[in-house]
Amino acid sequence: MYGNELEEKHKSRANKLVLFSGVFFCSLRVVAEIVMGNYHTAVICGVVAAVVLTLFAFFSRKNFKRFPLIFSFCLYVSYIWASFAIGSFKYFYAYYLLVLLICAVYFNVKNYLILLITTQIVNIYLTVFELPPHINGNVWVHFSLIFCSGLMLSLVVQFAVRKSNEASSATDSFGALMRSTPNVLVLLDGDNKIRYISQSVSKIFGIKEPEELAGTDFLDLFNERSVRELFEDISKKRSFYEDYQKINVNGQIRTFNVFANKMTDDSMFFMLNDVSEITKLKELAEQDSLMDGLIQIPNRRSFDRQIVHEWNRALRERVNLSFLMIDIDFFKNYNDTYGHLQGDELLKVAGSIFKRNLKRSADFVARFGGEEFGVLLYGTNSYQASVIAERIRKSVEEEVIITTTGVKTKFTVSIGVCSMIPNGSEEHDCIIEAADKALYKAKQNGRNRIWISD
Ligand code: GH3
Ligand code: MG
Ligand code: MG
Repeated sequence: MYGNELEEKHKSRANKLVLFSGVFFCSLRVVAEIVMGNYHTAVICGVVAAVVLTLFAFFSRKNFKRFPLIFSFCLYVSYIWASFAIGSFKYFYAYYLLVLLICAVYFNVKNYLILLITTQIVNIYLTVFELPPHINGNVWVHFSLIFCSGLMLSLVVQFAVRKSNEASSATDSFGALMRSTPNVLVLLDGDNKIRYISQSVSKIFGIKEPEELAGTDFLDLFNERSVRELFEDISKKRSFYEDYQKINVNGQIRTFNVFANKMTDDSMFFMLNDVSEITKLKELAEQDSLMDGLIQIPNRRSFDRQIVHEWNRALRERVNLSFLMIDIDFFKNYNDTYGHLQGDELLKVAGSIFKRNLKRSADFVARFGGEEFGVLLYGTNSYQASVIAERIRKSVEEEVIITTTGVKTKFTVSIGVCSMIPNGSEEHDCIIEAADKALYKAKQNGRNRIWISD
């Protein structure tokens, strides 16, 4: 439910209250006149009351902006007129206070003061010129009493109106917030039923009429049991904050920052900040920063992360971790002969050959820098690693690269292989150093070969 709906509800309650007070007061007056045997007066009061109250019922539905001011003034005038018509000002001030009270329900301070001042001027006039024959005792005492009670009422009303204005402007702001926030804001009662929910739920959850969600179970928004359980758990806590919660919304995984806070024992506030787009961009940027721009395989940064991960995994599970250090032979010559751009092409081809020769999902190849590549083989012993290294070497040897000018070129690689079961006393750098030394041996021993570290 939003600000304007709340205002409508408040208005219609106020209208009903005023109508009820009017009917109640007029009926009392009519009954009083009948009891006293003034049938003529009772009929006039009854007719005037019926006309005025019917007009009120009619116009209050039409939602006139100035309606409360005009109506209250007409009510006051109609009563004076009716009092003159029946020649009795009995209950005049009681009725006057009733009018002021009705105004208290509707008016802002400015309108209230306009009505109060105008009617008090009329009251003075009536007090001096019209009422004396109708009132027992001193009319000025009557007037002073009514003036003071009017003033007191105005102070009370001023306070009440200010409070109600504050409340209604807070309600307006709340409504505006509920309509405009890109976050999903939800206020729940103690049974997880939705009291208020922001319009953004329609975009994020694909709900056409968010107003219809009021009174329904918040957990029904989520199809997946695990998500429902998550929110059920959160709603039992006093407060909760969690970044980057992956939540299945209509079969699509979205990322939310979830904030929840218990307001009272039977109300809970939830905020779901949809960060799916920004998370996607962040993940892409992160992926990008871990990829080699030229060859589109993981770069050294990515390798450094991976080796720590795999080293610790192998250490925990006491299995072999193998590392191949691959270097393209005479790459400088290739560059010098066919040009740097053709050298880049060769690097791309090399990268794709290495990837092609790694079959397990845990196998990991990265460009180390320049024309050097590193391959991590988890759960692979020295023999198996040498088989893979040899397979790579052979594939490279067999590859023919045709340059842009149509020249058929070939290249070779040297590979240093190291395999070990990590132990707690060594750092992962040792496997790289050992493979590097083995690579040096392979180069020294004529290139286009693999060398296994002892
Ligand atoms: P070796 O057989 O001993 O490994 O000799 P090499 O010529 O392959 O080794 P060296 O370290 O002397 O030369 C590596 C060359 O790789 C030098 C550098 O210009 C070239 N290089 C490094 N990065 C790139 C790159 O991104 N693109 C191209 N085209 N060349 C690169
Ligand atoms: Mg090199
Ligand atoms: Mg080289």
